[in-house]
Amino acid sequence: MGKKTGKLFIVSGPSGAGKSTLSKRVIGFFGDLGFSVSYTTRPPRPNETDGVDYRFVDEGRFDGMAEKGEFVEYAVVHGRKYGTNWKDLKRMLDRGSDVLLDIDVQGAEQMSEKVKGGVSIFVLPPSIEACAKRLNLRGDIAPSEMEKRLAAAMDEIKRAASYDYIIINDDLDGSFERLKAIITAERSKKDVVMGRVKELFTL
Ligand code: ADP
Ligand code: 5GP
Repeated sequence: MGKKTGKLFIVSGPSGAGKSTLSKRVIGFFGDLGFSVSYTTRPPRPNETDGVDYRFVDEGRFDGMAEKGEFVEYAVVHGRKYGTNWKDLKRMLDRGSDVLLDIDVQGAEQMSEKVKGGVSIFVLPPSIEACAKRLNLRGDIAPSEMEKRLAAAMDEIKRAASYDYIIINDDLDGSFERLKAIITAERSKKDVVMGRVKELFTL
């Protein structure tokens, strides 16, 4: 019997919704859930490590990879480039690992078209004011940028209905529980588990 392919969990939503906070927490919780480390042209934040949070590259390297078709999807997000490497993702899925992606809304749409069977999860803030507050808290956005970010967030929120699941990230612990529940439920679907049942009972 062939080895099962891993499941793809696509976490997306506007900037400041809490995607990366929730993604990190859930990766830490499930020992067997891989994280797809994206390539980006933005500089690292003080708490970030190259190869763990992102692979930080310059524009030339990113553009070269894009030209060679090395990204499954890529997008310009708030002036910086971000992309998911095909080979890294395929390696994880082919060995049967489930993989979580934390990507923007444009990238999530490209990904859903290219890789079938993924589970898409839209994370949004409880209000636009909360989104502004969280972006301020993170402290890496100039006040002059804020209006543009919030307008972009509103446009993205309009696309929530095309996702499989939606998490309104009000209380962080509650959102974390909901994300865990989604992953556990998806992993319990009969198409995922029947292969194992057949092995156990030689059906
Ligand atoms: P995203 O990855 O969607 O851009 P982050 O995960 O970086 O968002 O979160 C933005 C900021 O909001 C961070 O400072 C984070 O600690 C905070 N945050 C995330 N979720 C919540 C929440 N439920 N309540 C309050 N603050 C939150
Ligand atoms: P940040 O710079 O705050 O870490 O991320 C900015 C945005 O880029 C977030 O919405 C994040 O989900 C998104 N992002 C991170 N990696 C990728 C990627 O590989 N592809 C795309 N399309 N977006 C990404």
